[in-house]
Amino acid sequence: MDSSNIRSLVIEDNAVHARLILSLLAKAEAVSFDVVHVDTLTAGLARLAQGGIDVVLLDLVLPDSQELDTFLRLRKEAPDIPVVILSGLEDINLAARAVESGAQAYLIKGQINSAQLERSIRYAIERTRAQSGEWDSPMFRLAQQQFLKAAQIMDLDDNFRQRLLFPQRTQVVTFPFRRDKHEEVETVFGYRVQHVLTMGPTKGGIRYHQEVNLGEVSALAMWMTWKCALMQLPFGGAKGGVRVDPTGFSRKELQRLTRRFTSEIIGMIGPDKDIPAPDMGTDENVMAWIMDTYSQQVGYSVPAVVTGKPVVLGGSLGRKEATGRGVVYTIEDAAKHMGMTLDQCTAVIQGFGNVGSNTARFLAEDGVKIVAVSDATTGIYNPRGLSVGSLLEYIREHRFLKGYPEGEEISNAELLELPCDILVPAALQNQISAENAPRINCKLLAEGANGPTSLEADEILNNKGIFIVPDVLANAGGVTVSYFEWVQGTQNYMWSLDEINSRLHKIMTTAFHAALERSQRDHVDMRTAALIEGIDRITQAKLLRGLFP
Ligand code: NAD
Repeated sequence: MDSSNIRSLVIEDNAVHARLILSLLAKAEAVSFDVVHVDTLTAGLARLAQGGIDVVLLDLVLPDSQELDTFLRLRKEAPDIPVVILSGLEDINLAARAVESGAQAYLIKGQINSAQLERSIRYAIERTRAQSGEWDSPMFRLAQQQFLKAAQIMDLDDNFRQRLLFPQRTQVVTFPFRRDKHEEVETVFGYRVQHVLTMGPTKGGIRYHQEVNLGEVSALAMWMTWKCALMQLPFGGAKGGVRVDPTGFSRKELQRLTRRFTSEIIGMIGPDKDIPAPDMGTDENVMAWIMDTYSQQVGYSVPAVVTGKPVVLGGSLGRKEATGRGVVYTIEDAAKHMGMTLDQCTAVIQGFGNVGSNTARFLAEDGVKIVAVSDATTGIYNPRGLSVGSLLEYIREHRFLKGYPEGEEISNAELLELPCDILVPAALQNQISAENAPRINCKLLAEGANGPTSLEADEILNNKGIFIVPDVLANAGGVTVSYFEWVQGTQNYMWSLDEINSRLHKIMTTAFHAALERSQRDHVDMRTAALIEGIDRITQAKLLRGLFP
């Protein structure tokens, strides 16, 4: 669901009330509503059967159905849809009974304004998602399927297979934070997940995004485990997140959100326990606030509780651009293996945040012609090549790519299918599926984002002869320099940028060749080979430690 556009079904037979609700929905500020209005339950159920509705606003007294029976009949046909009851003051007891029977909320017609209506609907959707969908995320299914495929090929002991399918520890929190409009307090969901505690402290980013749920965070934590093991770093995988869309937030709001989230998960994190880092929607400022909140609680400065923080607070030189730099190191290795000359290659990059923009920058330094980039607002295509410097300048000024003048606007879907030598998805998961994989037109796919390719798409791309550098390898530069930052923080070292980059290069190249050799030796694709390398290391460590008690 696109959380900025909510598809609502209003089932209300009173024309005056219906007009009022529709006009309140039209005035909503934070989200837009696509509204379908019907005046009988029969028509409502018929519309629901077609799918695509996010929430129902329901009057209980209709020409073809009366009172609680109206809600129960709707619930029977659509058990998972959030329902907000529209009640008159005289029917308030009836509305309360509907809530007891499973409706998410009720509102008194005539006593609501647009902001209250919008908020009730958003919370109804949130609650339904929290109750039904936490583990059930496509990303978690993908991470588990990838793991099971590798486990089967490597003939993994069944005890390990069961143990590693789910994370070892999870914490789900709900907490309030105050918006800048002082009277508004949002309640949001946050998560911290630690997948494997065998290898040392756990490590993984914190994501602020409206789609975050327990399943998504668990998938990301699982991938972190394989990634750290593949890079031979002394960490298990973790991840965290808050289900919130931070794009419209002021810095003050972001800071309040971060500090409260940190204090909610403070028992889970620590420099020897679990070390957060930036991910989508978070950056070095967010890390500085986490570090400060943690340090305030324990009474002294603990820079090593996070990585990816500003250099002046103990951050590592090179961390900010490390993921993009690592993506490019693996592209250089892959190009050498494939016999491609980089300064004759073209590249398309989806996402122009931390990973995407730095990948573009370093690829351009290698002489690659960047023909298209995109962000959440638009894609920009210029077959003659885009200037990365000018794109970065535009972003600094306008925050998003929308309106960038030196190229043609294209959609993100079109961008992925452009003919090019190198394609780098560096935004979201789940971008290349069985549907668009046949039209992907590159030679090399380097996954900057986590989980951009489905298992079915993997097979299609492999059959087309596209060389894939999988996410656990391609984007591992971030956690590798995070490890350097943690080492420097705990030992009070300061390494130079050259030292950082040359150590990073060595680790990335070693991991690339380990995966490539495994792939050639076992006749498996690069993703499965990289996962097997990681899983193998974890199982060895688990065997050596033995089982407690
Ligand atoms: P970011 O928030 O800095 O940037 C994300 C970019 O994606 C932005 O340009 C945003 O506008 C764009 N985007 C959002 N929705 C989009 C959409 N629907 N279509 C196209 N573009 C869209 O995040 P980031 O840190 O660059 O992370 C990007 C990906 O890389 C994520 O999958 C993340 O898990 C992964 N990753 C990041 C790091 C890191 O060090 N930051 C490390 C490893 C992996």
